Amino acid sequence: MDASSLDRRTLVATIRDYVDQLREEGMEGLPASTSATRAATSAPAVVKADAASISTELFSKYPGLEKTSTLDELRAFIGDCQRCKLAPRRTNLVYGIGNPNADLMFVGEAPGADEDARGEPFVGRAGQLLTDIIERGMGISRADVYICNVIKCRPPDNRNPEPDEVAACEPFLFRQIDLVRPRAIVGLGTFAVQAVLKVKIPISKLRGNWQDFRGIRFMPTFHPAYLLRTPSDKRLVWADIQEVMKYLGMPIPRRGGSAS
Ligand code: URA
Repeated sequence: MDASSLDRRTLVATIRDYVDQLREEGMEGLPASTSATRAATSAPAVVKADAASISTELFSKYPGLEKTSTLDELRAFIGDCQRCKLAPRRTNLVYGIGNPNADLMFVGEAPGADEDARGEPFVGRAGQLLTDIIERGMGISRADVYICNVIKCRPPDNRNPEPDEVAACEPFLFRQIDLVRPRAIVGLGTFAVQAVLKVKIPISKLRGNWQDFRGIRFMPTFHPAYLLRTPSDKRLVWADIQEVMKYLGMPIPRRGGSAS
């Protein structure tokens, strides 16, 4: 046995001991069996959103938000929102659309110009690709799922949303998730995934690996706008979507998902 393989074995053993120690200390989300623990030491990144802290933050920021009991009530609560600096430049607040009892929810970043003009998420070119993924790939109607964004108003010049804008708007997303209570959520792109999971891990590491968001399965994948620039990665998104379909018990088309 050479020195480098000995070092690797020592390292793996140390990590296993550490994982065992964490489990003994009652850390959430760690697997119960030894074989699962072994897998965990080499598994891709899995993070767990802290339900308690999110709920506290949600309800303390906007008192009364927790009393909204339907998506319509939540929309009325948001009203003609002036809670952040994006408000003055928007044409329409882009709330969300789809089945209020959907099993599946898609969460994107923020409205672009087309969405701002129409008041509906994902209606531009990237939106058309998302619709193709849902309708041609998954074989269901766009109206069967629920679609929304982390940020409800268009950032000027399509810049990335800023932290204060996310902080102002995310309680509404979290309440939308509470109210729809989907069985699975697909997070579209770096920004949405990092904002929901509160992590800085790159989307390339997270995509394709189930995460947990307050007890709901959360699948990170690439944003359709990225796929328009990098069509060769559509196959990765289709693989992620197939995982979601399997989990939801949906039939997977034998040849499908090209969504080109
Ligand atoms: N990109 C998004 O993230 N959301 C939209 O609604 C449109 C484009």
